[in-house]
Amino acid sequence: MSAATWTPLAAEGLNVNQQRAFDIYKELIEINTVTATGDTAKAAEAMAARLRAAGFPEADVHAFSPAPRKGNLVARLRGTGARKPVLLVAHIDVVPASREDWSTDPFKLTEQDGYFYARGSGDDKYMAASFVANLIRYRQEGYRPDRDIILALETDEEILDKDALGVQWLLKNHRDLIDAEFALNEGGGVGLKNGKPVRNSVQTSEKVSVSYALTVKNKGGHSAAPVKDNAIYRLAAGLTRLSALSFPLKLNETTWAYFERTAQMEGGQLADDLRSVLSGQTDPAAPSVARLSAGTFFNAQLRTTCVATLLEAGPAINALPQFATAKVNCRVMPGDPVDAVKTTLERVLADDQIVVTQLDPPTLSEPSALRDEVIGPIAKLSAEFWPGAVVLPTMSGGATDGSYLRNAGIPTYGHSGLAGDVAENRAHGRDERILVKSFFEGGEYLYRLVKAFSGGQ
Ligand SMILES: [Zn+2]
Repeated sequence: MSAATWTPLAAEGLNVNQQRAFDIYKELIEINTVTATGDTAKAAEAMAARLRAAGFPEADVHAFSPAPRKGNLVARLRGTGARKPVLLVAHIDVVPASREDWSTDPFKLTEQDGYFYARGSGDDKYMAASFVANLIRYRQEGYRPDRDIILALETDEEILDKDALGVQWLLKNHRDLIDAEFALNEGGGVGLKNGKPVRNSVQTSEKVSVSYALTVKNKGGHSAAPVKDNAIYRLAAGLTRLSALSFPLKLNETTWAYFERTAQMEGGQLADDLRSVLSGQTDPAAPSVARLSAGTFFNAQLRTTCVATLLEAGPAINALPQFATAKVNCRVMPGDPVDAVKTTLERVLADDQIVVTQLDPPTLSEPSALRDEVIGPIAKLSAEFWPGAVVLPTMSGGATDGSYLRNAGIPTYGHSGLAGDVAENRAHGRDERILVKSFFEGGEYLYRLVKAFSGGQ
């Protein structure tokens, strides 16, 4: 549909709940919250003001500013306390966007052709705005959940909270305010193919990133008098052996369910290969395993991986190298012992002059179990909103801020109810957008889902 023929949804008349969600979304989007240069404190304050104006008591709304222009918000809708709270998490910072690259102003909410365009429209202000709007809606309806519903809007997710001012700051300083039985976070949405819903994903785990330095030392000398024992050659030979390393295939609860449901959805050779692995085939030489491993995505889902990423050696062009160092980044299957990776590297390098050193302590991430209390309501409601879409547990190859919550003992599920085309991913890119229909539909889904999590209908 072109801009000329598209009738803005707002013009068709939104109901009072939709209008409120839209107003909050627009306000949040039009506060520039780029992590390095924007102001998340202002956004946290604005959302706190909305909640207070809706009647939330002062004691249940906390806007924190751990540093200038950095803000986190924690708010609580009180329930009967029969069960431990549920935590709703969304980050309010966004990645940069420049006006010249975009077709629209990235910091103005623009409705066009059935989409909302803006930086953060999907990542992650849709969730943040929906959670705030829904909390107000519950309160206005006098909804009394059987557990407190806690909202946490956090800063600095887009830089993985490297200065510990976001989710880590909340965990360290106000753990009591956000302690919960489990959390909903970004990381999973509804996939559409030709407009038809095919999957509704729930991110439950992520691989663990851990890096190593591989170093060879040598007494060096003048390059006019070379010796056989050369640090660069030794390291290069070791790296060649490492390049052939393939970790054993391993499934966990999440990838098992992911493979099973993907096989149902896809059919054909891929489905046959996935079923072969599910039935216990682990031989890397088996055609099914070899075919799956040839693709980067499935290879990363099947096993721990390690890859050389940096290389440095030698002091000068006319000197024998006194050292050679390579850095290797590994992505370890969650739950696998990290120490065993170093042992494997040493075994494969097979040279005691290549010294392997672990660089940083890894952020371990315990997978969140696919518990019925969470997956049950998701499956039931998903069937109502998106009939035929498979509820799909996922493990991400990269790390997210969900790992901080998981490590703190709060099982965390990446699940948004936001539907978009499977082929389109503009998060972090130019002209980030979400479907207008999906905004309202997803907000309603989250409203119903969180109610289902808390004893409501
Ligand atoms: Zn995000």
